[in-house]
Amino acid sequence: MKRERIIFCDFDGTITVNDNIVAIMKHFKPEGWDRLVDQVISKTISIREGVGRMFALLPTSRKQEVIDYAIQNVTIRDGFAELLDYCRTRHITFLVTSGGIDFFVYPVLSAFPIPASHIYCNGSDFSGSHIQILWPHACDEHCGNDCGMCKTAIIRGYPKEQYERILIGDSVTDFEGAKLADTVFARSHLIGLCQNLGLHYYPFDNFHDVLRRLEENES
Ligand SMILES: [Mg+2]
Ligand SMILES: [Zn+2]
Repeated sequence: MKRERIIFCDFDGTITVNDNIVAIMKHFKPEGWDRLVDQVISKTISIREGVGRMFALLPTSRKQEVIDYAIQNVTIRDGFAELLDYCRTRHITFLVTSGGIDFFVYPVLSAFPIPASHIYCNGSDFSGSHIQILWPHACDEHCGNDCGMCKTAIIRGYPKEQYERILIGDSVTDFEGAKLADTVFARSHLIGLCQNLGLHYYPFDNFHDVLRRLEENES
């Protein structure tokens, strides 16, 4: 029996051209943010710890500025709406699996026909003195990576016997999920990871590339 196709698509640096967390930090420049980014990239600290500590540097008195900046800064990668159309007509489930934060992920995606239940990201709490990130989709017992938003836990919810699992991503938050996927569409850092691990991947610049390849692989 043919397996059902499902797509797990990253947000920052994939659906959007920029990495929004890095853009927020570069703009507001809270003391010490750049060291935290380096530590996440070099895997000295986990993604959850790094992202949590970065946002904890930002006072909630700047809430509206931070939210406005994040949303206005976004550019959507070409072909995204077309890919969503294609998925709808072919009954391919399209999930957004994002290591980003709710206050920019949901507003940006509200321009597109994606049900909220198909969007996974981290949460936020502005009730204290500094921004606190919440982790409603933390790692389960099968993942010891301290992801924050655990893509592997979500992917494992769709067993490979039943689903053809397709991951689209660009960077460090996609590394663990890429190891589980049947097909990886990769750009940027994720290409290097796939090469190092010998994972089968297709490089892409925009979603038209992804769409073309999905059509070719239909049959
Ligand atoms: Mg990304
Ligand atoms: Zn995890």
